[in-house]
Amino acid sequence: MVKQTIQIFARVKPTVRKQQQGIYSIDEDEKLTPSLEIILPRDLADGFVNNKRESYRFKFQRIFDQDAKQETIFENIAKPVAESVLAGYNGTIFAYGQTGSGKTFTITGGAERYSDRGIIPRTLSYIFEQLQKDSSKIYTTHISYLEIYNECGYDLLDPRHEASSLEDLPKVTVLEDPDQNIHLKNLSLHQAATEEEALNLLFLGDTNRMIAETPMNQASTRSHCIFTIHLSSKEPGSATVRHAKLHLVDLAGSERVAKTGVGGQLLTEAKYINLSLHYLEQVIIALSEKHRSHIPYRNSMMTSVLRDSLGGNCMTTMIATLSLEKRNIDESISTCRFAQRVALIKNEAVLNEEIDPKLMIIRLQKEIQELKDELAIVTGEQRTEALTEAELLQLEKLITSFLEDQDPESKLEVGTDMRKIHHCFHYLKKLLNDKKIHRQSTAPSENKDQNCQEPLKEEEYKKLRDILQQRDNEINILVNMLKKEKKKAQDALHLSSVDRSQLSHGQSSPFPPGNPDGPKTLPFSASTQALDSSTSPYRSSLLHRKTGMREEMSLGRQEAFEIFKRDHADSVTIEDNKQILKQRFAEAKALGESINEARSKIGRLKEEITQRHVQQVALGISENIPVPSMPDQLEEKLRSQLEEEKRRYKTMFARLKALKVEIEHLQLLMDKAKVKLQKEFEAWWAKEATSLQVNSPAVTPSNHVKPFPQMSEAQHERSQPLSNKRLRDPGK
Ligand code: ADP
Ligand code: MG
Repeated sequence: MVKQTIQIFARVKPTVRKQQQGIYSIDEDEKLTPSLEIILPRDLADGFVNNKRESYRFKFQRIFDQDAKQETIFENIAKPVAESVLAGYNGTIFAYGQTGSGKTFTITGGAERYSDRGIIPRTLSYIFEQLQKDSSKIYTTHISYLEIYNECGYDLLDPRHEASSLEDLPKVTVLEDPDQNIHLKNLSLHQAATEEEALNLLFLGDTNRMIAETPMNQASTRSHCIFTIHLSSKEPGSATVRHAKLHLVDLAGSERVAKTGVGGQLLTEAKYINLSLHYLEQVIIALSEKHRSHIPYRNSMMTSVLRDSLGGNCMTTMIATLSLEKRNIDESISTCRFAQRVALIKNEAVLNEEIDPKLMIIRLQKEIQELKDELAIVTGEQRTEALTEAELLQLEKLITSFLEDQDPESKLEVGTDMRKIHHCFHYLKKLLNDKKIHRQSTAPSENKDQNCQEPLKEEEYKKLRDILQQRDNEINILVNMLKKEKKKAQDALHLSSVDRSQLSHGQSSPFPPGNPDGPKTLPFSASTQALDSSTSPYRSSLLHRKTGMREEMSLGRQEAFEIFKRDHADSVTIEDNKQILKQRFAEAKALGESINEARSKIGRLKEEITQRHVQQVALGISENIPVPSMPDQLEEKLRSQLEEEKRRYKTMFARLKALKVEIEHLQLLMDKAKVKLQKEFEAWWAKEATSLQVNSPAVTPSNHVKPFPQMSEAQHERSQPLSNKRLRDPGK
């Protein structure tokens, strides 16, 4: 068990204006806990805080200033958590802060550069790299992606997403079992055998989220997203399975209402806009206060889902994201205060081990066989399925002598072998029946004779009936025991098959499942082909589905879309990324060729060395010179060349692998940008259409989408920049 308080980190977002300096300072003394001081500007202090307190100081495990790279954040915050997850503990990393402070940037990453990728893609990369290195265990990885909006849970990886609106999808609900474990109904788990598959799921979920977002439902600021990596591991041959979950959580914006107030009260009493965050705070307050027995986890979906991560079996880390500009001072102070409370919470992480029922059955079956064998040795007889002829004869002899024995105390001793006992009964039954038939056919004449033998038979019958009764009871007991065992085994099997069907439900999504046995390394001979986007089934299907609407566009609308795209700010990013992608492709292609060259060179060198050997042996035989035990100079040289070539090959191979990941990522970024563009175009188009309708009553509703392509150049130029401005997210 590992006891630990929740770790808290702070990250300050780069400010646009440089003159914000002086608003905060970071004190990172080697010996002391780092602290962040937020200095209230004079004018604010005068107005709101009674001029009494001008600065606030908060302690953090570490504070990352504006220039901190994503790489640094991963190394210092996420990597240690990922490591404990690999060791079998649960982990959670959550980002908390006001909208625009960098939560999504930190957790998922920026939408433009590869180097901006955040904690999720880097963690996936790290975990899969480690799994590949460790061949001592068998690992399985599953991904789920949950969004909580307005206290309702949505499965971002639900394959029905693109077919229906958010409201029509089955809601994810929280179920609690008698042991108070939380289960999420309707949340699909998707197996991911490679980093690439996991990354595709991340992008699919993000895109689904973007599509579902409308101005009325500002999902990105008002909802919480929980990306979960489920990892199970097992040693070969062992029945013990370890499960660990890593939640990577992007919370809703923590901004509060009631910004204006009097006196120092303002900062503490403002209420969250988001109800879930209010309940999260309640739980954290309860947990940080000593002697609180009731923790109100059940009040909201999010606290139920994160129950283990807060005051439970988990290694938890919080990242407070801060946008330290003057207008955000109060929100930043709130964020830091929240973090200080969180830091008081102690968690106790334990290894989550359980016995796999299927493996347990196999193990028990083996044990039974072993016991049977042991028994055979002890009793000195090997039990086969049926009794042998000799055994049967022996038994019948025993029965005959038993029946003939006049002693009322005599016993029929056949041992504990049930098969023998059964046979005795059968034999006796047969004898009895034979006798009955015989008696019936000779009944009238032998009446007298029979009567004199009656007392003996009566007694015998009674005795036999007793034995029969006794044996019957034994058999019943045994049968009951067997039934119970069978039911247990069936339940266990059922359980495991439910598990499997749940998993396979995830796999039945429209995108094809990954090949779990697929190549772990990049096939170099097909390097350029492997980098082709068409080999990424998830991605291409995603793009196809999301941009499918394009095909239904009228020509005019398509043209409008082209213009819209050209003038859109994001198109610069798309173009840039396209260029980078082209370069990377070219680089990958060249690398692939060099790798193939290196490979054939290695082959040639090996061949030469072998030939050299053969030559020497042949020489030895013909000239009768002993074969030298040490390799000669030429072979020495060939060998060092071979080593050198192998090294070169390895380096290039590693580089190609990294390139492949980068290319995949860039392609996904571009797809996402394209979907976004399309969505914005649709919104703009609809708006244009309605505004045109309002302005010109001559336009009938039936052709309400047509006016735009018919506009004059002048009209066009006027409307374009204006609508673009309207479309731009004010937060960006
Ligand atoms: P949040 O999710 O907290 O609302 P975002 O992560 O969306 O905030 O960040 C808002 C904007 O600021 C985005 O455009 C993002 O790219 C940018 N941003 C945030 N943090 C950083 C950072 N550390 N470096 C560069 N840009 C950042
Ligand atoms: Mg965000």
